[in-house]
Amino acid sequence: MCGIIAYTGSKPAREILIDGLRRLEYRGYDSSGIALTHRKRIKTFKAAGKLSVLEDQLPATIDGVCGIGHTRWATHGAPTDINAHPHSDSKNRIAVVHNGIIENAPALKQKLEALGINCQSDTDTEVLAHLLASHGGKLIDAMSEVLLGVQGTYGLAAIDKDDPGTIVVERNGSPVIIGIGKNEMLAASDM
Ligand code: GLU
Repeated sequence: MCGIIAYTGSKPAREILIDGLRRLEYRGYDSSGIALTHRKRIKTFKAAGKLSVLEDQLPATIDGVCGIGHTRWATHGAPTDINAHPHSDSKNRIAVVHNGIIENAPALKQKLEALGINCQSDTDTEVLAHLLASHGGKLIDAMSEVLLGVQGTYGLAAIDKDDPGTIVVERNGSPVIIGIGKNEMLAASDM
């Protein structure tokens, strides 16, 4: 279990997310990534290795005042670029970061495959992005219903390109803390 940071407000999210990930580095990790919503699109950047590897591949500016970030300590799947979080559905509508273990991921993967939806990564996490997207409707409602069928531990943060500015967080057995600022909110796995 590693780290989550999420920000929504009026400041550029990129710096806040990277700064948050840097503060989480002490916990140890094998890869990192961020995803931001901007103009009804989600932009995701992720990389195996140190946070500096991710930073090196970020463009000079990334617009967006809402996003999620993650440092991963792999439990399912090798520490590769593809297995790094955030994970997205096939249409890149939703991006999700996860700390913990989805115990029934194999059964959920089979259920998705029966619907013609295939995961790209070896993680237990990616199923969540596909399940949330295939549920449809508002992300907050999809999250509550999808999690009824999920067994395991999770700290989660998710964004939806169709609802920029909103972050949905959930937790069960893994920490998520919410910080309320002036016209901004943060969520993190660690004080
Ligand atoms: N189980 C997830 C994975 O292996 C999350 C690991 C973590 O908590 O960093 O991708």
